[in-house]
Amino acid sequence: MRARILIVEDEQLVGKDLANTLDRLGYTVIGIVGSGKKAIDQTLEELPDLVIMDIRLKGKMDGISAAEKIRAEEDIPIVYLTAYADDTTLDRAKGTQPYGYIIKPFVEREIYTTIEMALSKHGVELRMKENEKWLSTVLNSIKDGIVASDTDGKITFMNPMAEEITGWSIQDSMDRPLNEVIDVVGVKDHSAESNAKGAEQGAHIALMGLKESVIRTASRGDLDVEFEGSFIYNEQGEITGLVVAIRDISERKAAEAELTRYREHLKDLVDQRTSELEDTNEELAEANAALETFAYSVSHDLRAPLRAMEGFSQALMEDYGEVLDETGVDYLNRIVGASGRMDSLISDLLIYSRLNIPDIETERVHLESVVLDAVAQLETMVQEKEADVFVDDPLPEVIAHRPTLTTVFMNLMTNSFKFVDPNVVPIVRIYAEEEENIVRVWVEDNGIGIPFEYQQKIFQVFERLHSLESYPGTGLGLAIVKKGMDRMNGYVGVESAPGKGSKFWIELPKAK
Ligand code: ADP
Repeated sequence: MRARILIVEDEQLVGKDLANTLDRLGYTVIGIVGSGKKAIDQTLEELPDLVIMDIRLKGKMDGISAAEKIRAEEDIPIVYLTAYADDTTLDRAKGTQPYGYIIKPFVEREIYTTIEMALSKHGVELRMKENEKWLSTVLNSIKDGIVASDTDGKITFMNPMAEEITGWSIQDSMDRPLNEVIDVVGVKDHSAESNAKGAEQGAHIALMGLKESVIRTASRGDLDVEFEGSFIYNEQGEITGLVVAIRDISERKAAEAELTRYREHLKDLVDQRTSELEDTNEELAEANAALETFAYSVSHDLRAPLRAMEGFSQALMEDYGEVLDETGVDYLNRIVGASGRMDSLISDLLIYSRLNIPDIETERVHLESVVLDAVAQLETMVQEKEADVFVDDPLPEVIAHRPTLTTVFMNLMTNSFKFVDPNVVPIVRIYAEEEENIVRVWVEDNGIGIPFEYQQKIFQVFERLHSLESYPGTGLGLAIVKKGMDRMNGYVGVESAPGKGSKFWIELPKAK
């Protein structure tokens, strides 16, 4: 596009001549005016790309005054046209920041060079202004304070956020030392690199390496801040200044402090609670131990009178059976039966109490031999019930306490033989599943099954689901199993449904 030029020249011939030259050079002359006033009017109205202004003009206003007025209104480049000028005039001309001079009488080449340089310089300036505007918009709107200084540490720039954080206004801080405006009173974090540089080049440079610090502000007292510093380098790689981004982290710090306080408070509470619990646990353990010792000695001491009762009932039956009528015999039989039940109860209680002995030592145990041992001990019952027992062969080795594990199997199998419908032949299967570190052993029966809601309860002491008449028992069998498994670091559970049989399982560490 051809550049549009306005010529301001009061000598008509010179103006025309210049217009012709410009036309030849490829420019569009939008007019030739002869006075300062007209020059201003037409420029402001048509906004040419360039004004060529004769310094000397007829009338009150010369070219320099006209140029001043134009530049005050619009950013339009002006090139002066002059034959000669004294120093005062030239100084005045300089004050209007002209883009060049064309000396009369002019030479075509020079005109071309001067105009092209003026247009290009103006273009560059426009772009720079746009960049500056963009940069200052960014700096003014960001949430960080930005402070720049020269190499001596004198402040050259501050954005509004930096004014707010430091409490210093841009006017007051200009040319002041950086470390006066950013007055660090508490160093929390300092990079070694910047320490070295700082020692070499001055305190303001030491500021660059700070990460978190406390500064003394001009209006808000001491403030927690975070820094991010960079050096400004020129093309030669020399440091020409510093930029420090500064962020107010007082709210974050306050929140952190609050959190720490809460955490400590919570820790105190937990510590206190833990120690209370430990005390209670200790007391409980002591009480339990006392109770169990008591249960053990009572059970033990009950045995002797029970034996006496059984013995004398027997003697009574043998020696005086004949003189007793039917009712008397029935009573005696009931005494014998009750003594028998009491004996089972006492022996279960003793087993249960014995499981409290402090040192149950576990070892590698051959599962199959333990199961077969338990079956052998239940031989009488197996025969009585005509039960079928199937034991998988082989079974893996586990880590357990052999006598306790035998007791566990005996109790599980006794229940399997016992809890079947009348006239049903008990069938019991024992098999194992191995995982990486554990062995799960199943004791499966074809019995009456257990409703789901009772499957946890039955492991508690004296929990029974049936009357003594239909299914005799002490209510301690599964409690013994549970306690035994606990003591061997194992687990026990059941899967069952009424009428579908039961599958009890125990879990123990696998022997490796
Ligand atoms: P006990 O056998 O002396 O009654 P346990 O503690 O061994 O006591 O068992 C508790 C209750 O759990 C039993 O009374 C019975 O109701 C139920 N139970 C235990 N094993 C089985 C089983 N294999 N099949 C059905 N019910 C069972």
